[in-house]
Amino acid sequence: MPVMDENLITVFDEVVARNPGETEFHQATREVLESIGPVVAKHPEYTSAEVVRRLCEPERQIIFRVPWTDDAGRVQLNRGFRVEFNSALGPYKGGLRFHPSVYLGIVKFLGFEQIFKNSLTGLPIGGAKGGSDFDPKGKSEAEVMRFCQSFMTELYRYLGEHTDVPAGDIGVGGREIGYLFGHYKRITNRYESGTLTGKGLTWGGSQVRTEATGYGTVFFVEEMLATSRDTFEGKRVVVSGSGNVAIYAIEKVHQLGGVVVACSDSNGYVLDEAGIDLDLLKEIKDQQRGRVSDYATRRGGPVRHIKDGSIWDVPCEIALPCATQNELNGNDARRLIANGCKIVAEGANMPSTPEAIKILHEAGVKFAPGKAANAGGVATSALEMQQNASRDSWSFEHTEERLAGIMRSIHDRCLETADDYGQPGDYVTGANIAGFTKVADAMLAFGLI
Ligand code: GLU
Repeated sequence: MPVMDENLITVFDEVVARNPGETEFHQATREVLESIGPVVAKHPEYTSAEVVRRLCEPERQIIFRVPWTDDAGRVQLNRGFRVEFNSALGPYKGGLRFHPSVYLGIVKFLGFEQIFKNSLTGLPIGGAKGGSDFDPKGKSEAEVMRFCQSFMTELYRYLGEHTDVPAGDIGVGGREIGYLFGHYKRITNRYESGTLTGKGLTWGGSQVRTEATGYGTVFFVEEMLATSRDTFEGKRVVVSGSGNVAIYAIEKVHQLGGVVVACSDSNGYVLDEAGIDLDLLKEIKDQQRGRVSDYATRRGGPVRHIKDGSIWDVPCEIALPCATQNELNGNDARRLIANGCKIVAEGANMPSTPEAIKILHEAGVKFAPGKAANAGGVATSALEMQQNASRDSWSFEHTEERLAGIMRSIHDRCLETADDYGQPGDYVTGANIAGFTKVADAMLAFGLI
């Protein structure tokens, strides 16, 4: 694993000092700064223009009050965020996360990752992230709507198809995007489809956007397997999480002949040796917003729900962490290796701790970081923006083919870049350097802004 370049240590120290207590943001910057040393050494112009230092400081950070009333008529209060991190390659682009754990450090880490991820897609999108500490769990439809409307009442003034284009993330799906878009349309009096992505298919959404993050991760792993002339056929796979990313990762693994034997939520995991029954899982999650324990009860037979257990105890050849940040630690990595795991690809953002990544790397497990492996979601958002701009809509097949092509090209660019910098097979180095270079060159071209 690379050691950080001298010049970049100063930048990193400044990041920590300027953003105290924001541990996830420190973790995300550290990983990128550890990778890009060789590029910075080769390009003194990046250092003289302080490109890396500027890149680590968001262009704009918005924090706002979100008041709303619950069904009992009581006043509730949440905090809203939008970190518009970098617009060198295009309008700010990135999702909104509604989860009680959201604070500025989480939004900043996600926004920072998004810059490089969006750059890797090859499409013209900058990096941003936003959200709120609002917890949609247990809220009524009406409460979710009132919250979304209040959130958009403040955020709308910063958005626009050429400025900033949010989408979903944890806790923000089609329902929330509907309320957000409806309110944006009402208060601006403009049907500006390209201002939000992840929209419904009848009102400006794109085919495959719902499936894109999970499908894209699996397409990426397909490419990783192909480097050793292997396929998903007959492979035993574990997918953590049971939200949108996990569900469509499971679907694509099954389509490609693999078997997903376990998935999870924050209360535990289910082990289903026959392969997860996706129709049942979708029904429980979509219609009833249920838990994986309900899946075990409904499915019956030998299917087990392991309460509070770690899904990484389950032996598998391929592990896809698709839940949330830092869900796979050093001990989990050791158990995966002991059980014969050969590939780990991140469907979530930063799900593996730095220790886990180091251990997997040293054991020769192929590891794909989220900013490469889960870029299919935002890539398809950019395809949605293209369709909105041309007032067109593409077929499922065409859109899926575009997604597959984008994932192939991200995969190949990571490997080629890793090769160029003497780290063959190191997807982390490849993704960070390839993502960084494009943004850095654009920032240089623009002068000091
Ligand atoms: N939240 C997703 C991500 O982490 C998608 C963002 C988007 O489509 O703008 O990349």
